[in-house]
Amino acid sequence: MSDLTCDVLVVGGGPGGYPAAIRAGQLGLDTIIVDKDGWGGTCLNRGCIPSKAFIHAADKFAEMRHHAYSPALGISLSAAPELDMKGLVAWKDEIVGKLTGGVEQLLKAAGVNAISGWAEFEDAKTCTVTLEDGSTRKITARNVILATGSVEVELPFLPFGGKVIGSTGALDLDTLPEKLVVVGGGYIGLELGIAYRKLGSEVTFVEALDRILPVYDKELTRPITRWLKDNGVTVHTSSKAKGLVEDGGKTFLEYENPKGETERLEADNVLVAVGRKPLIKGWGLEKMGIPNDGKFIQVNERCETGMRGVYALGDLTGEPLLAHRATAQGERVAEIIAGHKTAFDPVAIAAVCFTEPEVVGVGFTPDEAKEQGETVITGKFPLAANGRYLSMEGGADGGFVRITARESDHVILGIHAVGKHVSELSGEFALAMEMGARLEDIAGTVHVHPTLTEGLAEAALAALGHPIHISAPKR
Ligand code: FAD
Ligand code: NAD
Repeated sequence: MSDLTCDVLVVGGGPGGYPAAIRAGQLGLDTIIVDKDGWGGTCLNRGCIPSKAFIHAADKFAEMRHHAYSPALGISLSAAPELDMKGLVAWKDEIVGKLTGGVEQLLKAAGVNAISGWAEFEDAKTCTVTLEDGSTRKITARNVILATGSVEVELPFLPFGGKVIGSTGALDLDTLPEKLVVVGGGYIGLELGIAYRKLGSEVTFVEALDRILPVYDKELTRPITRWLKDNGVTVHTSSKAKGLVEDGGKTFLEYENPKGETERLEADNVLVAVGRKPLIKGWGLEKMGIPNDGKFIQVNERCETGMRGVYALGDLTGEPLLAHRATAQGERVAEIIAGHKTAFDPVAIAAVCFTEPEVVGVGFTPDEAKEQGETVITGKFPLAANGRYLSMEGGADGGFVRITARESDHVILGIHAVGKHVSELSGEFALAMEMGARLEDIAGTVHVHPTLTEGLAEAALAALGHPIHISAPKR
């Protein structure tokens, strides 16, 4: 087959790579994108989207079960719902198929040459792609965008296979595990562990640190801890997984408790969710002359690596491993290659964990702001005082919106929330930070009633000392 040349070669078709390719195509650059595993990468095929579909299905099932066993809102069901795991997985796969097919169409519409295969570099600008039929194609590019993403971390003493699954396996189970042990109480463990609990599994967590979801402060994770407790989920913190043992025809996860003693938990499946690592091996990075620390590729705000004309983005470039960060980098890199004066330099990147209840954060927590030498004021608004929240059956879960601002000029340094559906507030939170908003800007923006967004305005008012829907000290 003939060799190919192009202005831009993108390796990796995830939420970092495919928007980079689409934007490059829009800008008139002759662009090729290569991916082996399906357009949309981890995010669309085995990450963000399938996990959120799975969580939605679990929510629906739990809600229906609730109405069957204890009628509420004047609604009862005469029989409990039945779960067909294969049906759930098939529905999730349908959504994945629609979105990945959509990405392929978008690439085509932008004039991008999308090639399915594995790329391996022989120098910084040349790679050989092995196609599905085993044939190869050499591609030489003037600019290269590396977007190879990340893979699940495997524990050497708990290798994936059989009853030990990672997030990919957890999204494809044929049968519901009666007993699920989750190793790792971070993003993936909590999102999927909670979903499995809602589907009816008995779920137990083993977390190495002294609390779950350590990226958020304790005030934010308290409502999640409470939900886990109220729903019979046991969390073993300061505990380390050790390995699997078979005994009497049953499988057990052995772990070391905080006292250093070995204990065991029976498990039909063990979900190992102890992090993800950038994919830096298996595609010739070592032949490209790009400086790296063996863990991820370091880039500047233009996503430039140490090699001229070679850019990297997304999970490959380290924390935070988030799809929207990868996408924003991808768009900027294409524009930079097209000669635009731009950079990837956000004030802050919002993150959401789709737990029960959800938690969202952007910018500094009060403690982090203080560590940065700031003197801060905070405002907290309990969502139990928000009409929309109550009308959506919220209110009893301890949800709130919290705003952190610099005391001297009221510039907002961070916004956090925990509660049902608060993920949908993340856009306004991020916008406020990006626009350099002050408390008065948020409090002075007319927020629609009844919506959860009123909770942000009230948190700003609370920081200013005069909230309307909670009592404030008289001034
Ligand atoms: P990836 O999406 O990993 O894509 C990289 C692509 O490159 C892959 O398709 C891979 O096959 C391909 N590739 C690699 N090397 C080569 C090669 N040599 N040749 C050809 N192709 C190659 N993030 C969020 O923001 N929100 C969420 O809700 C969320 N939920 C998640 C849930 C789960 C279960 C998981 C696992 C992750 C989740 N994430 C979430 C993280 C998110 O998926 C990643 O941050 C995001 O996918 C990173 O995008 P990327 O483009 O850098 O890499
Ligand atoms: P994580 O870093 O969020 O959590 C891993 C947890 O495992 C940590 O709490 C850690 O202390 C614990 N751990 C590590 N080794 C252990 C051991 N031997 N025994 C017990 N516990 C152990 O990682 P993750 O949950 O695998 O997720 C990976 C990344 O994917 C996240 O960092 C996140 O960026 C991304 N992600 C994002 C979302 C989202 O945005 N909603 C959802 C899923 C994943």
